[in-house]
Amino acid sequence: MSKWVYSFGAGHDEGRADMRDLLGSKGANLAEMASIGLPVPPGFTITTDLCAAYYANSRKYPEDLAGQVSDALARVEQAVGLRFGDKRTPLLVSVRSGARVSMPGMMDTVLNLGLNDATVEGLGEASGDARFAWDSYRRFIQMYGSVVLGVDHHRFEEIIEHVKLDADVLEDTALDAMQWHRVVDGYKEMVSQTTGKPFPQDPEEQLWGAIGAVFGSWMNPRAKTYRRLHDIPVTWGTAVNVQAMVFGNMGSDCATGVCFTRDPSTGENLFYGEFLANAQGEDVVAGIRTPQPLAKARAKPGEVAMEQALPGAYADLLAAREKLERHYRDMQDIEFTVQQGKLFMLQTRDGKRTAAASLRIAVEMANEGLIDQAEAVRRVNPSALDQLLHPMLDPKAPRTLLAKGLPASPGGASGVVVFSADEAESRAAKGESVILVRIETSPEDIHGMHAAKGILTTRGGMTSHAAVVARGMGRPCVAGAGGIAVDYGGQTLSAGGRMVRSGEVITIDGAAGEVFVGAVGMIEPALTGDFATLMEWADARRRLSIRANAETPLDAEMARKFGAEGIGLCRTEHMFFDPQRISAMRQMILAHDEHGRRAALERLLPFQRQDFIALFRIMAGLPVTIRLFDPPLHEFLPQGEAELAEVAAALGTDLAAVRRRAADLAEANPMLGHRGCRLGVVFPEIYEMQARAIFEGALAVAEESGKAPVPEIMIPLVGMRRELEITRAQVDRVAAEVFQARGRTVEYTVGTMIELPRAAIIADQIAELADFFSFGTNDLTQTVLGLSRDDAGRFLPRYVELGILPKDPFVTLDVEGVGAVVRQAVERGRSVKPGLKMGICGEHGGDPASIAFCEEVGLDYVSCSPYRVPVARLAAAQAALGLGRDRTV
Ligand code: PEP
Ligand code: MG
Repeated sequence: MSKWVYSFGAGHDEGRADMRDLLGSKGANLAEMASIGLPVPPGFTITTDLCAAYYANSRKYPEDLAGQVSDALARVEQAVGLRFGDKRTPLLVSVRSGARVSMPGMMDTVLNLGLNDATVEGLGEASGDARFAWDSYRRFIQMYGSVVLGVDHHRFEEIIEHVKLDADVLEDTALDAMQWHRVVDGYKEMVSQTTGKPFPQDPEEQLWGAIGAVFGSWMNPRAKTYRRLHDIPVTWGTAVNVQAMVFGNMGSDCATGVCFTRDPSTGENLFYGEFLANAQGEDVVAGIRTPQPLAKARAKPGEVAMEQALPGAYADLLAAREKLERHYRDMQDIEFTVQQGKLFMLQTRDGKRTAAASLRIAVEMANEGLIDQAEAVRRVNPSALDQLLHPMLDPKAPRTLLAKGLPASPGGASGVVVFSADEAESRAAKGESVILVRIETSPEDIHGMHAAKGILTTRGGMTSHAAVVARGMGRPCVAGAGGIAVDYGGQTLSAGGRMVRSGEVITIDGAAGEVFVGAVGMIEPALTGDFATLMEWADARRRLSIRANAETPLDAEMARKFGAEGIGLCRTEHMFFDPQRISAMRQMILAHDEHGRRAALERLLPFQRQDFIALFRIMAGLPVTIRLFDPPLHEFLPQGEAELAEVAAALGTDLAAVRRRAADLAEANPMLGHRGCRLGVVFPEIYEMQARAIFEGALAVAEESGKAPVPEIMIPLVGMRRELEITRAQVDRVAAEVFQARGRTVEYTVGTMIELPRAAIIADQIAELADFFSFGTNDLTQTVLGLSRDDAGRFLPRYVELGILPKDPFVTLDVEGVGAVVRQAVERGRSVKPGLKMGICGEHGGDPASIAFCEEVGLDYVSCSPYRVPVARLAAAQAALGLGRDRTV
């Protein structure tokens, strides 16, 4: 018999925090909290294994589940002294989802389950509050109706509005027991009409309906989208938590709230959260009423903090905060309810936080002694650093304030206003920067939030859906900007007498919670403080060097600022994308003979020399790997008549001849074509010119600075030993010529890219001629998998969705296939030359999972785009820590 059900609370805790995979994060943490003595209403968790079994078995439960559920339910009944379905003392339960990692708002929840026409009366009498009982019943029908029975939630709203209108009241809270009773009658009638069946009265049937709906919600579209965006495998499944209800809506000594043990936006060590008196959990998240602060110190005029309203429960909550942080040694996101003055803990989990907060919390917790420095380095998600490297509003830039809201997720963003998630997605796909403006967001909006540069809502607090999701995604967000009126129909927003239409530009400052008309100037972030501290701790621990792929001075400077320890790939053909230069490049490619080519190369030489001088200066003694031309021809051939005519004029030939030559050169498979060293072999003068520019540039910098750069010259697309032999000889010959002419030498090395399977297979032969290897995993992925770099994006997402490939192999190295080829080349290369220097310069060099592989196989460095350098520094440290290769121990 399999164990599908684990109890928690009331001294019967079968789970622990480290059982997240089986119990989901919520279930595991409820059990853990109960076991450390925090007040948790008793309940039980149905495991994620059951979810997997349910889907594997055509959505049917194993036979032994029902008995385990009823045993666990009996234990809950006994613990709280109530009976499920009992007319006088009914036990009510919540049924909530809970996957291994939290997926806020993505899956379904049903509260107040167990109410029916009879138990509602019992609840009214037992609580002495008929209004509360009927309000709970209508909440239950509403949730169960929409979640389990699929009734559109607007249908429920209409009925409440009707009763409010009749009663002549504005707020839900003003309705009395009789009026809620009327709402319930209206609901039941509407549900029965809509579904063709009466609303289920049997609590057992309700329970199994809700359990089925929660498991079913694992496959709903928004959960699928969320999983795709967060790389969550479908096989994980969700758990279901069934728990005795406690009520935050029983009167003024009741409340519900959510809080973070530290500020999730900035990371500041301040208790941070919101509560609503006389309410249930969904009221806080839905953002319908404005929540109040917890601490008196944070209350603004007119607000009543929990510290003032419920001082006893607040003191208990502070104690729970201390206990949880000490126990979990991480910032926690807590949900609680206060029932008649008594605090209950409903959830704790590691809190989602901005990258800035994540850094600050890790550094401060290390400084407080809660964790050590290595743990701090492990804690920060390298990919999240990206957020910190993005622009913020320039404090000196002029601006016109439109409105203020809450600073829900930091960072600045400008873009055109759009009012729907679909439009955000479609306009962003066309390259536009968009700001998604919604009254409030719901999980249906996540694709648009992801596509948007920033998010603005007019309703909801710091823990509203928009705020939580935006922080998780690293999107700047201003939430609850109540001064803005949004008119979806008219596609406008207005505030303070000013109107902004869809398509007009606004700017948001997610750190200040401000919204501005038009675009506002941005600045690059400062890489100091906590960022610098964590980077220092990471640098001390990593073994891999981190270089950047850069060819322009701007990129090279950026790379240095971000801590790059040299250039690992300078794609020299990219130095000619500039419109002023591309013509010379085209003349070289389209020249009819060596003479024409040499003439064009003469024009390229000074540009190249200057470029290299600039890079050597910026890199001041650090290694600079210069890759000789590797121009896939389709990227450089003239497009259209005007460009052809320009090249013809420059070459002094007629247009028809140039057109013919371009047609001759066009290739069916340019990426497998006459590129890389094949060009250097067939037209030796090309690499000769580049080698000359490199050596002359290096000598010039050596003379001006007294410090000679050490160029590393790299030959691309080598597949045969002889190719490297020929091209290396060209480079060495030019070096000798230049050194002789100048009467001075510089050190240099010549290496090769390993980016074709053949090169990897004969890496031992190639190593004999190479001073270093650099893995070009873009081409290697293309050629090992037989996938076109340029076209595979059309179907790869589907492959990932179907689980045929775990990830896009152009983003995260396919360790099983391409990785095996890399590993073999490393071994063969070093079998000939132990200690042969090796690195990677494909896009994978900036991807944390691929960096872990590079560490494992013992490469010496990774090279990635400048903005990814900090990501790579941290990922390399984590990889070293993961393999027990911490350099500080
Ligand atoms: C590679 O193939 O991985 C590489 C770095 O070269 P390129 O992307 O320029 O082909
Ligand atoms: Mg390549």
